Amino acid sequence: MAKQDFYATLGVAREASAEDLKKAYRKLAMQHHPDRNPGNKQAEAKFKELNEAYDILKDDQKRAAYDRYGHAAFEQGGAGFNAGFDFSAGGGLGDIFDQMFGDFMGGGRRGGAAGRTRAGNDVRQAVEIELTEAFAGTKANLRVPTRVVCDACSGTGSEDKARAADTCATCKGAGKVRAQQGFFLIERTCPACGGQGRVIRNPCKVCQGAGTAQRERTLQVTIPPGVEDGTRIRLSGEGEAGGQGAPPGDLYVHVAIKQHPIFQRDGSNIFMRVPLRMTQAALGFDVEVPAIDGTKAKVKIPPGTQTGDQFRLRSKGFSVLRSAVRGDMYIQVAVETPQNLTRRQRELLEEFEAEAEGHAKGSPESEGFFHKVKEFFEGGRG
Ligand SMILES: [Zn+2]
Ligand SMILES: [Zn+2]
Repeated sequence: MAKQDFYATLGVAREASAEDLKKAYRKLAMQHHPDRNPGNKQAEAKFKELNEAYDILKDDQKRAAYDRYGHAAFEQGGAGFNAGFDFSAGGGLGDIFDQMFGDFMGGGRRGGAAGRTRAGNDVRQAVEIELTEAFAGTKANLRVPTRVVCDACSGTGSEDKARAADTCATCKGAGKVRAQQGFFLIERTCPACGGQGRVIRNPCKVCQGAGTAQRERTLQVTIPPGVEDGTRIRLSGEGEAGGQGAPPGDLYVHVAIKQHPIFQRDGSNIFMRVPLRMTQAALGFDVEVPAIDGTKAKVKIPPGTQTGDQFRLRSKGFSVLRSAVRGDMYIQVAVETPQNLTRRQRELLEEFEAEAEGHAKGSPESEGFFHKVKEFFEGGRG
């Protein structure tokens, strides 16, 4: 079966930025991660494809080679010019040229086996918190599926801790083997040790020599006061354990903040919509409102308040990250027109309206508007 285009695998355009690639990769990798799809072979295959695609495209040089030559740039043992070049062992394009021309140029760079052991993968975890928690800061407990160092072998991958690994007899520790292919003397990853340069003697029965084990850890993460929705907190070294003593990856915690039924946040300011009856707005009203910090605040609504009028409560807003400063809270008034009137209410309002008719002086905008309408019709007749 023909291999899918790496860009198509990640669902991005060919001109996608590094950031877009990363986003697309992370999203899909989360979705198809084997930990989330235990026993699902399709997800596992997809996950491998995603990793393969991203591994190439995240590297500018490899991406350029892929854009130019397609999959042929990376195929092992395929026919043609690019045969046998293997990126998976960690060599960049520079290594390719060394591999191609090093023998003609009398040596050149030789990649040793050292540093080949794979560092642990980064892990991404999402946490959702309340707006009030974002205000005050909180601690969240995460259950992180992760690869940890195998207890049984302390990460050596061997039953025999004193002498865990032997230098690979096939490649003599180089991690690569050479073969003549046509005109070129080419190198490829050593099939005996997978490029590690060493072979585990007496592999650990628990981890089968990997040096890591799948585990779920509970981890507490401190979320600082004033955190924004979408903030990413990096916990260095809390990702997956690396194979055979390699460094662990990092854990990225993505913070999402839930919608609050009363407060809307905009940066360090908080907005609150307060519905008022028409009469409250007309006569003035003292209202007590809750604040994000759990206290209450009194707001004096003056007589004649209109829908959309805004009242500011200083320093009652959101805390600003890494500072003692607080934003403001804004009370936004929405005047409600009464509905389903009782007979008495209707009488009172009719009386009110009759009074308003004769009370032109000092009356609001509507008087001016109806006056203009009257002029319009009269002017139209003349
Ligand atoms: Zn080897
Ligand atoms: Zn083990």
